[in-house]
Amino acid sequence: MVVSYPQTSLENDAYKIALEQYDRAVAHANLDDNLVEYMRYPRREFIVNFPVRRDDGRVEMFTGYRVHHSTVMGPSKGGLRYSTAVTLDEVRALAMWMTWKCALVNIPYGGAKGGVVVDPKTLSLGELERLTRRYASELIPLMSPMMDVPAPDMGTNPQVMAWIMDTYSMNIGYSVPAVVTGKPLAIGGSEGRTEATGRGVVVCMLAALKYHGITRTEGVRVIVQGFGNVGSNAAAYAHELGFKVVGVSDVEGGLYNPNGLDIPALLTHQKAVGRIAGFPQAEVVTNDELLTLPCDVLIPAAMEGMIHAGNAEKIQARFIIEGANGPTTPEADDILNDRGVYIVPDILANSGGVIVSYFEWVQDLQAFFWGKSAVFENLERILTAAYQTTKQTAEQLHLDMRTAAHVTAIQRVANALATRGIYP
Ligand code: NAD
Repeated sequence: MVVSYPQTSLENDAYKIALEQYDRAVAHANLDDNLVEYMRYPRREFIVNFPVRRDDGRVEMFTGYRVHHSTVMGPSKGGLRYSTAVTLDEVRALAMWMTWKCALVNIPYGGAKGGVVVDPKTLSLGELERLTRRYASELIPLMSPMMDVPAPDMGTNPQVMAWIMDTYSMNIGYSVPAVVTGKPLAIGGSEGRTEATGRGVVVCMLAALKYHGITRTEGVRVIVQGFGNVGSNAAAYAHELGFKVVGVSDVEGGLYNPNGLDIPALLTHQKAVGRIAGFPQAEVVTNDELLTLPCDVLIPAAMEGMIHAGNAEKIQARFIIEGANGPTTPEADDILNDRGVYIVPDILANSGGVIVSYFEWVQDLQAFFWGKSAVFENLERILTAAYQTTKQTAEQLHLDMRTAAHVTAIQRVANALATRGIYP
């Protein structure tokens, strides 16, 4: 067997992290070496350079990516990110994590991810729409309900998904809601999709606390880094259940109040001014400080690589529930595991988003829509089962939860690959 890596400069930390996590897991997965090598590679990588007319008449070029890591279990599935930090390597990492995430929660998808190198805050609404429609047009040859189904991620939202659905549908000639998930309800979105990822993070937090004998919520202190779709919905649901959310942050900085933040009031403030800064009755802290403040549970819900060898020693939380993808480096994992910090990994903790995206796709294909309680009941059932399976693998193989989750997922994908065989 030849061990190699997909051709890459490995300049992006996320991809290094994804490959290292993969290598750590396959060491415990008892798999055919050829399959181990096969699954290391993304199936397809798509790079597009395309023009967008700015409001002042200038034409600017943008670069976008879409990587399908695996399609062995079904259509590839994964979000679209608009950020200046997007690189091919970052997208490769996120696509690989999507493959493991979908396999871990047993939904019939492979993994994909996409992104455009752009700060969406620098675009007018019209420019954002033109950029999205042109990028979507470029993806049409590789996108369809049975081939690849995008969804929102950092910097994108339901409106962006609506433009993608419309662009695809106009080109095909009829409405195809199932080509993208995370859409507004008015065009075939699912009840509960907006809250799904954050809610799932809290479901995993409850499972982890219960496993450690903690069944109360009162007085359990939670810090959330990132107050976007995932972070704000996790904070809101945690607050609703009686947890004390003592700290939150966005890209500009953090807020801390040891007596607990009034999360509904903070959401109203954020909606009004577009940021969390300026919220009264809280101490202002930096993002670095936020991670190391006293709390019981830390929920990173911003970016990759935020918990690293430089700050892992100082983290005071006993539990880390990963809302973001790839927030913890392997070095930090080692430090935290040695210190007995219990980590529920991203591919499990933030899988609520893709689970409800799957429900949305199923509803669109059947043209039959569910109520919110059915969505949340099924979400909790699937997530709780995935948590239990991961916990059992961790106990049986004496592994941390991240490695156990990867082993479970990788074995499922490997089994599907072996069953299908190598074409031709
Ligand atoms: P978002 O754009 O809605 O919010 C991101 C938040 O993080 C914002 O509050 C932003 O200000 C903050 N942020 C950005 N950079 C930061 C930094 N350096 N330090 C602190 N805060 C920072 O994005 P989102 O959809 O909530 O995604 C957040 C994370 O969750 C990403 O890692 C994403 O891949 C992951 N995720 C999202 C979903 C989903 O359904 N949206 C599903 C699974 C995983």
